[in-house]
Amino acid sequence: NIQVKKHPLTIRLCGPRGFCAGVDRAIQIVVLALKAYGAPVYVRHEIVHNRYVVEGLEAKGAIFVEELDEIPAEHRQQPVVFSAHGVPKSVPEDAQARNLFYLDATCPLVSKVHKQAMRHQRLGRHVVLIGHAGHPEVIGTMGQLPPGSVSLVETIEDADAYEPADADNLGYVTQTTLSVDDTAGVIARLTERFPNLQAPAADSICYATTNRQEAVKQAAPGCDLFIVVGAPNSSNSKRLVEVALRAGSMRSMLVQRASELNWDEIGDIRTLGLSAGASAPEVIVDEIIAAFKERFDAGIELAITAEETENFLVNRELRGVPLTHE
Ligand code: SF4
Repeated sequence: NIQVKKHPLTIRLCGPRGFCAGVDRAIQIVVLALKAYGAPVYVRHEIVHNRYVVEGLEAKGAIFVEELDEIPAEHRQQPVVFSAHGVPKSVPEDAQARNLFYLDATCPLVSKVHKQAMRHQRLGRHVVLIGHAGHPEVIGTMGQLPPGSVSLVETIEDADAYEPADADNLGYVTQTTLSVDDTAGVIARLTERFPNLQAPAADSICYATTNRQEAVKQAAPGCDLFIVVGAPNSSNSKRLVEVALRAGSMRSMLVQRASELNWDEIGDIRTLGLSAGASAPEVIVDEIIAAFKERFDAGIELAITAEETENFLVNRELRGVPLTHE
């Protein structure tokens, strides 16, 4: 009975990590809607960008669609939930036109960005949205205003190339899940070129994005590898992978499930950084830790940079429906 001696490994576990208040609320809305109205409950777009969460809700009776016209006529009386990322104004309008009963799970912090964009426009400003093309949140924010009144800027190069019609009447907002540092760079460049560019009344990058990036920055220096639990379409998770590299981890990668871990590629490491994007459930973090403990003599070191107490109320229609965890 030969005991193979395992290599020691320090796992630097970041906090805060994983679910934010907006994701938690969006999932609760689907679960409560299933309780209150029975299955099926339709959800437009992945409620949050995580397959595990989506499959868990599908098992409870949620049906995910990309557009409202996919909801069959015989289910029109069942609720449809809009995802945490927010939707263009045309979506609730379309739902009304189709006589659908909808529950909006847009994160209140995304709605706040929508309001800031509308405020700029009310004050006669053309809106510059800093964000990633094609992300549902960007589509939702652009869709708050008439076509042509928002310009998307993704990078410093875009900021250099941007030619507004009226450089003295510009206001910016950002996607909520960007890299704090990259965004500061883009804003600085835009302000250099357009000194009258107006900031939103409140920061657009949300507390959860900021906090998760801070913890990663603290944990990453000296890590041989940094793992971020999250999905390839999760903006905030991808930013954490970049932040880890830039803050001094030798390597960093996005992982959805422990089964994806390639042990040959991981190799013989001594220090592992670990965090999770805002849409990644804690059970997957546990699963990854367990997988490393099987192969290494692993100890955990916490890298906690903030305490989070945010909690967002669910839609009025669902308050009072008991949320029991089965
Ligand atoms: Fe809301 Fe931020 Fe979470 Fe997005 S990441 S759902 S904006 S709290």
